Amino acid sequence: MKSIINGLRGWIRGISEIERFRKELKAYHAIEHVFLVSSGKAALYLILKALKSLQPDRDEVVVPAFTCYSVPSAIMRAGLRVRLCDIDPETLDFDYTLLEEIIKSDTSERILSLIPTHLFGLPSDVARVRRLITGTGIKLVEDAAQSMGAKVKGQFLGTLGDVGFFSLGRGKAFSTVEGGIVLTSNTHIATALKEELSQFREYRVPEIIGLALQSIILSIFMDPRFFWFPKSLPFLNLGETHFERHFPLKKLSAFQAGVSREWQDSLEKISSIRKRNSAGWTEELKRSEFLNQFKVIETAIPLLRYPLLVRQSDQRWALLKASEARGLGVMQAYPESLDRLDELAQKDHCACCLNAHAVAQQMITLPVHGYVSRMDCQKFRELFALVET
Ligand SMILES: *Cc1c(COP(=O)(O)O)cnc(C)c1O
Repeated sequence: MKSIINGLRGWIRGISEIERFRKELKAYHAIEHVFLVSSGKAALYLILKALKSLQPDRDEVVVPAFTCYSVPSAIMRAGLRVRLCDIDPETLDFDYTLLEEIIKSDTSERILSLIPTHLFGLPSDVARVRRLITGTGIKLVEDAAQSMGAKVKGQFLGTLGDVGFFSLGRGKAFSTVEGGIVLTSNTHIATALKEELSQFREYRVPEIIGLALQSIILSIFMDPRFFWFPKSLPFLNLGETHFERHFPLKKLSAFQAGVSREWQDSLEKISSIRKRNSAGWTEELKRSEFLNQFKVIETAIPLLRYPLLVRQSDQRWALLKASEARGLGVMQAYPESLDRLDELAQKDHCACCLNAHAVAQQMITLPVHGYVSRMDCQKFRELFALVET
């Protein structure tokens, strides 16, 4: 409730509230330029338009073949081509042998940018990507949509690329119902971003009222015991992954900036809960015969959800169904790898991505949010036991 009141106050304060948020983000991440928009998708679109204006002869964007569908939709909306790189099924990061082939191929001068992605908060090896593209003119766009507030070797994820972005959407590390943040310390890119951002429109009053209503519904019903209710409201689109072609391009409103008040505190609190619960899952499941854990989970990163691979697909479906019936919040991740999406069925450069496909078929994610700590661990044990037998 407090965040809605902060939102309304922010709305009254207007532009100064947005400036406050920008200033805090810059200081926190030690970054020169921050731009605020209506979603992660809009943030990526803005970045790509800006990069394209600096290098108009390039038109391809390389992404991991298993990621959020918003990524290809933003690339296509920006008038660019998606080029897929298969993933390493043990880390969810790029398959670096393949990535190197792509960068060394004779069509590589078409590549505008590369998007290492910290999926569920598992860190991508940005330094390695950086080494591969040195001297190529390819720009490194860091997709930190799911990892705001996480650090690797003392550096915030989102600040490692030429330009990075966070999502403030529902279900992300920190949310203002919807929103997106672009960060860069590159002056050229910042100038181009500013220019492109001037094409974005402001939120309209009914849209802000809509945001306020959504945040009220979400704050009341986020408890997993009641979660079926917002999940049943079609306009909230919860727990689903869509390929959206026509998402709005707006500047973040003062209402959302208001909702963000004290974001550093909430982010730190949430992160420590997520870390603890992730470590709990690692410990709890390490002896499981039918679940595969990811190696990198050992590091002290606050995961957004805890990803696992279930080796057998019948066990996986049984687990998802049983969880749904008990309201435990085990979910599948993205239902398909990008090479299998109708929207991307663009032949040539989408050579089959077998690892990404296999991961999509096997993945489940476990919740790590605050409610999990209070939920009965025994219920999860029963769930896993049920499927294992
Ligand atoms: C959520 C997400 C996005 C897009 O953010 P929205 O705010 O939902 O548009 C992009 N990339 C990844 C990895 C995401 O998880």
